[in-house]
Amino acid sequence: MADWKEGIPPVVRFAPSPTGYLHVGGARTALFNFLFARHHGGRFILRIEDTDQKRYQPEALAEIYASLKWLGLPWDEGPEAGGKDGPYFQSQRTASYRSHADQLLAAGKAYRCFCTEERLTHLREEQEKTKMANGSGYDRHCRSLSEAEVEKLLAAATPHVVRLKIPDARAVAFHDLIRGDIAYDSAQLDDLVLLKSDGFPTYHLANVVDDHLMGITHVLRGDEWIASTPKHILIYEAFAWTPPVFAHMPVILAPDGGKLSKRRGAASVLDYQRSGFLPEALRNFLALLGWAPGGDREIMTLDEMIAAFTLERVQAKAAVFDETKLEWMNGVYLQGRSIESLLPDVRSLWEKMELPAGALEDETYLKKVIAMFRERSRKLSEIAENSLYFFRDPREYEPQAARKHFKGEVLALLDALIPRIAKLEPFSHDSLEGLYRGLAEEKGIAAGKLIHPTRLAVSGVSFGPGLFEMLEALGRETVVRRLERAREHIAGGIKA
Ligand code: GLU
Repeated sequence: MADWKEGIPPVVRFAPSPTGYLHVGGARTALFNFLFARHHGGRFILRIEDTDQKRYQPEALAEIYASLKWLGLPWDEGPEAGGKDGPYFQSQRTASYRSHADQLLAAGKAYRCFCTEERLTHLREEQEKTKMANGSGYDRHCRSLSEAEVEKLLAAATPHVVRLKIPDARAVAFHDLIRGDIAYDSAQLDDLVLLKSDGFPTYHLANVVDDHLMGITHVLRGDEWIASTPKHILIYEAFAWTPPVFAHMPVILAPDGGKLSKRRGAASVLDYQRSGFLPEALRNFLALLGWAPGGDREIMTLDEMIAAFTLERVQAKAAVFDETKLEWMNGVYLQGRSIESLLPDVRSLWEKMELPAGALEDETYLKKVIAMFRERSRKLSEIAENSLYFFRDPREYEPQAARKHFKGEVLALLDALIPRIAKLEPFSHDSLEGLYRGLAEEKGIAAGKLIHPTRLAVSGVSFGPGLFEMLEALGRETVVRRLERAREHIAGGIKA
């Protein structure tokens, strides 16, 4: 409530509508609510705003839960968790919205409006023509219906909505914890619909009634809702309820200053999971979209974020979604992860890559591969994609590297190399290194002349982990087979 004092545990909510996937902007809102609640020892509620039957998508619910769980943002009350203020689905609370609308009707704060869709459309068109000289929006036609007229229309079961009586021109002011003092002129506001003709509430009514009944002390939501706030203030006023404290999070822009779009970062949270990001990295990155913890701190654990999070440090200016920074941050987290903890995620990426049967059976081998690629990767997907040659022979050779390293003179080198590798004992990093250095010296060439063609022959690419470590892990048989295949390839190329 507006008289909320520091020290009293706050109650906040994340209130998504299940109309599609949970995108990163929504996740940022959830995260700020979560951090705020945890910082102050309060409660974080998840409420599903599912009263818009037309836009409802059943898969969206599972996405919302999965996204919040993956990001490590458990809700204290809500679907699955339960709680004393449920149900947490607005579609299960419609009786309450109706009775609240009735209360406002009885108190003369709201009225029934029987205007047909045709009349409203006509009204809009007229207003367009006159360039809104007489004001825009609903013309309050039904405000002046007499009681008798209303009774008659009701008796005839005439479809109708319930509208709020917006007071005549006056300031509707509120203090936003991030944006400061904000005032709207009520003359700019329409007599908004509270209850639709199908008996379902609008977002405005349901949102306010639930925030009140659930004891929400702070509404922390995206900036795009700020224009709704004066309407909400007037609904609170009509009920004679104290409104909560409002804080509108800054918009998130694409790096070019445009709106976030799916192509420019606004992908769903689970898309980030699928493309190989770690939840703790995405969470850390999202926390910094609008919040400045102070100093040049960036990489922070969840506990550090909770300890440092205050709304005073959330800025009003737009935040920029810089995917390159997210990738960098993900790389930092990746290096901090144990190989053991990465194994299940990388394995599930490999499983989607149609590898030869049995390729993923040896866990020790899988861990060795992950260890070799972790430090070179920023995403789990890079580990999985760049390491495929550890499970199957390369299907082609990187063309530019092949032009450079698969020249005719390499044939003689391979002829010297292959039998020595076949006999090498033990087949280990150090003895391989000794073999390469020794042969290079013998032939009077730089070791690179042997190393680069070998790498290309065994991996198909010109980059990757240290060569000797890689050869040791692949094993003698595989290395010899791939060197022989490369030899054939080069010889074939020369003949042609
Ligand atoms: N259901 C709204 C949404 O989808 C909630 C907005 C609010 O937090 O008031 O974001």
